[in-house]
Amino acid sequence: MLLGIGILITLTLLVLVVAPLLAPETASASMLPVDVTPQIDLKRRRLVLYENLQDLEFEYKAGKLSADDYNALRLDYTAEAAQLMAVSQDLEITSTEEAFIERAVAARRARPSTQSVPDYTCPKCGFENPLPVKFCGECGAAIVPRERKV
Ligand SMILES: [Zn+2]
Repeated sequence: MLLGIGILITLTLLVLVVAPLLAPETASASMLPVDVTPQIDLKRRRLVLYENLQDLEFEYKAGKLSADDYNALRLDYTAEAAQLMAVSQDLEITSTEEAFIERAVAARRARPSTQSVPDYTCPKCGFENPLPVKFCGECGAAIVPRERKV
């Protein structure tokens, strides 16, 4: 999963770097006007999603939701959040050169580090859940976060 994203990012960067060199006139044709920023729309959707998740937690703790409903809704929200994250990561790359440089620096810093990060890989099916989750986004098994060396 992470390797796949890494390859995707690398390919995207390659295309972004090479395409303007090959076709300088048409390179910006696919860009959206500045006033129609998908970043803002995404940010709004993520905020809404975040609020929905908080409401969900609150209602569950208040006893207004059954565990089944809670788990089902939480899985929905988690899947949507993962999707939004993937989209916004693509947008971050294309948005500005600064973002590109920041990401490159962050990636370089992250690689040789030996610090631990929580691992939400499912013990049952092996799916690498991209977010802190209590239940696997693939099979629904309970996730116990473990520390993983990076
Ligand atoms: Zn699973």
